[in-house]
Amino acid sequence: MVTVNEAREDKTATASPFAMACRFCGASAEQEFVDLGMSPLCESYLPADQLNQMEPFYPLRVNVCARCFLVQLPEYVSPADIFTEYAYFSSYSSSWVEHARVYTESVRRRFGLNERSFVIELASNDGYLLQHFVQANIPVLGIEPAVNVAEAARARQVPTRCCFFGVDAARELAAAGEQADLIIGNNVLAQVPDLNDFVGGVKIALKPTGVVTMEFPHLMRLMQENQFDTIYHEHFSYFSFLTAERIFAAHGLTLFDVEEIPTHGGSLRIYARHTDDAMHNVTDAVANLRGREERAGLTKLATYEAFAEQVKETKRKLLAFLIGARRAGKTVVGYGAPGKGNTLLNYCGIRTDLLEFTVDRNPYKQGQFLPGTRIPIRHPDALEQAQPDFILILPWNLTDEIVAQLDYVREWGARFVVPIPRVRVL
Ligand SMILES: [Zn+2]
Repeated sequence: MVTVNEAREDKTATASPFAMACRFCGASAEQEFVDLGMSPLCESYLPADQLNQMEPFYPLRVNVCARCFLVQLPEYVSPADIFTEYAYFSSYSSSWVEHARVYTESVRRRFGLNERSFVIELASNDGYLLQHFVQANIPVLGIEPAVNVAEAARARQVPTRCCFFGVDAARELAAAGEQADLIIGNNVLAQVPDLNDFVGGVKIALKPTGVVTMEFPHLMRLMQENQFDTIYHEHFSYFSFLTAERIFAAHGLTLFDVEEIPTHGGSLRIYARHTDDAMHNVTDAVANLRGREERAGLTKLATYEAFAEQVKETKRKLLAFLIGARRAGKTVVGYGAPGKGNTLLNYCGIRTDLLEFTVDRNPYKQGQFLPGTRIPIRHPDALEQAQPDFILILPWNLTDEIVAQLDYVREWGARFVVPIPRVRVL
């Protein structure tokens, strides 16, 4: 017979400090996917008067569930600490606003949305997307947990409720007769700590004939293209199509279509409906993507285990480039101050000795410092003054837009450097 004390000793001897219950299926998920060391919260920009203070760093160690292959982070930080004041305003990226406009037109046509429809967007940010429905007289409701961002949305006439979404919020909506014809969730699924509560809420807030569309970064692309810098504490989960399909099915929702879109280095846009609503047939794109993910090895644990080494090699190559440039007397500065840049720079240990400063169009970030690395963030005009030899593009997913915007840096012969999937000088 095993006594309570013996069992406890046994547990401390074998359990990984990073062990967790899978946030979807509940199995023990302690298999390492990648360990990016210690990192501060990637959106915690520092004002100058905090430079003489400490910063909290949290482990950035990612697990994979051996049963359902959900790639996930333990909840190192609570969402209330992360999302109630958020520095990301979607409207500052012009390609992002355009992406939203094109999407809005496409779903309006495909699902016949009009003045009598009702559209809910989860994590609606500053209303950059819903504004297009408002302009077309389609009633909308945004749900956005960050107070300052929700205020910005209301200022542009987008009705917005400031709360976290889940089963409770969905029941309130349903009770008030506010079920949706379309529920949109773009870049929010990854940020939900209680995945089952969130998807369960979507089921409740959706009309019997309603449609859900969600966009999230595609795990297959993350793995194939070394996009480890898109991992941060704010992103609790990373989805293949196969795993997303399992999660929605468990809540009575069927994915009937999927599109692969270029945002964030390769995302999926899934289309879901109630499983018992036969209005929309399941398209060939669904079986096609399932097959490609299986052939890419996403149903085998060994594929996930191989990712970490690829990440280490990407770091070594980026450091080799930066050290080589500095030794040759060249100057390197950054462009952009996105969350992904902070994961990259902290993991690689890149500070002002290798990257003097970065610039960003978002006035909220200008004059502040990157978390952890404390690289100063300046106005884009600083590029012209400094005339650097190399500009490292941190939001590499927006490379085309940035290179076009910064055409003038060619005057002094500056060259662009992209860090991911592998360091490349353009
Ligand atoms: Zn699982």
